[in-house]
Amino acid sequence: MRDVAAYWQNWIDGGWVDGGAGRISVTDPGTGAPLAEQALADVADVDRAVAAARACHESGALSDLRPVERGRMVQAMGRYLLDHISEIARLLTLEQGKPLWEAEIEVRGAARYFEYYGNQAETVEGRSVPLGAGYFDFTTHEPYGVSAQIIPWNYPLEMTARSLSAALATGNACVIKTPELTPLTNAFIARAAEAAGLPKGAVNVLCGLGAEAGAALSAHPGVNQIVFTGSVPTGIAIATAAAKNVVPCVLELGGKSAAIVHDDADLDAFLSDVRWGIFYNAGQVCSAMSRVIASERIHDELVDRIAGLAASLKVGPGIDQPEFGPTMGAMVSEAQRDRAEGMVRAAEAEGATVVTGGRKLNRPGAFLEPTVLQVTPDMAIARNEVFGPVLSVLKFRSDEEAIAIANATDYGLVGGVFTRDLDRATRAARKLRAGQVFVNEWYAGGVETPFGGYGKSGYGREKGREALWNYVQTKNIAIRLR
Ligand code: NAD
Repeated sequence: MRDVAAYWQNWIDGGWVDGGAGRISVTDPGTGAPLAEQALADVADVDRAVAAARACHESGALSDLRPVERGRMVQAMGRYLLDHISEIARLLTLEQGKPLWEAEIEVRGAARYFEYYGNQAETVEGRSVPLGAGYFDFTTHEPYGVSAQIIPWNYPLEMTARSLSAALATGNACVIKTPELTPLTNAFIARAAEAAGLPKGAVNVLCGLGAEAGAALSAHPGVNQIVFTGSVPTGIAIATAAAKNVVPCVLELGGKSAAIVHDDADLDAFLSDVRWGIFYNAGQVCSAMSRVIASERIHDELVDRIAGLAASLKVGPGIDQPEFGPTMGAMVSEAQRDRAEGMVRAAEAEGATVVTGGRKLNRPGAFLEPTVLQVTPDMAIARNEVFGPVLSVLKFRSDEEAIAIANATDYGLVGGVFTRDLDRATRAARKLRAGQVFVNEWYAGGVETPFGGYGKSGYGREKGREALWNYVQTKNIAIRLR
């Protein structure tokens, strides 16, 4: 058990509570052994959490505050996370599988959201609309009320921080539904809210089964706005439930994002992009660089170099990887690992070449070797998300063909182009069907830059100032002067 508390409760209406649906066992994917138990919410728990959030909203305890006061509390939540970084990172590694050094980056990333949106709280201003001498007209932005946020298991702390920080900064009371596989670190979000002095009911954190608590939350008539990150089928189910209540959603549903690499690209630098792009968090990243589309002039050299990089990564339990380095942890679960491995076998059957990796490790835990495939655009693996450490490399002959291959998926989350030719990069950036384009550095940008999907990658924008508009509605006030 590695000194992790044996049992973790839900946080509803400012108190720790058991779950009406009992408990769920959380597994350490680095060993395959049980880690702890988590309270499991049922529909009645969801009702209680929504009622608490609604009462908080209607009392004005959060929404009537001067924005600077809300902003300070949001920032204090981030500082709380940083003050407990070692404890949180360790727990995150044990429940999620990522290396300890990556878990620390996630905690810092989560804290950064609270810092950024805490700062933004004061910037949400309306405008006055000129209507001539007889009127005074102005707009205000009001919080929706109760924001429901359904969180995925790949970055449980950071994804909660991303939506919660913006929602609280704009004055919404929130109900967080944590993922069944990695619910534990979200307890620190509740502790941070309490330590920061947020009013009772402003933050509720519960774990429950997606089909039960998740479905009940997304269909709840007391919810005014929904944020979801996860798979396309679940996103469709949530958007359907939201539509029945005429409630807006933000959906972030993954991708099959491509880096186009021209023959004049700096290949030494690009290898570092590959390392972060597809092997970080064992590839379980919605904006992973899951495809490389390489110029035919450098394709073979690049495949060799990428295969060398993949083979050089040391794979093992994240808890044994405290220092930044060429390491990779477990995937989140054996089921996710087996799914990814199954996609590699299916690609092989379709004619893909496994250049390196592709096998489970012969040890307990959810490990898959860093994998590089050579594929063609007609193969299923060139279009479908693996959500694992599996890179598909394709070849192009012309700029047009590169863009056509990159755009040939239903997704459209991010894309990249690697070249020293600025005109070429700019043309590609215009033509790539994606919400964010990286030129010469995968993941260039930050909390400040808007992020979100085209196509089946979803709608709405997270991060940046754009995200604030997910959480407020505009009211126009027109005054007739007599
Ligand atoms: P999922 O989409 O089913 O689960 C994500 C969250 O949604 C969890 O909290 C889950 O409890 C909840 N949920 C599930 N069914 C629900 C429902 N009917 N109503 C409301 N909430 C519900 O994802 P998964 O099954 O854990 O993973 C499957 C695939 O999803 C992965 O292989 C990957 O392709 C994709 N995924 C993408 C991201 C991303 O960041 N885009 C994150 C996680 C998973």
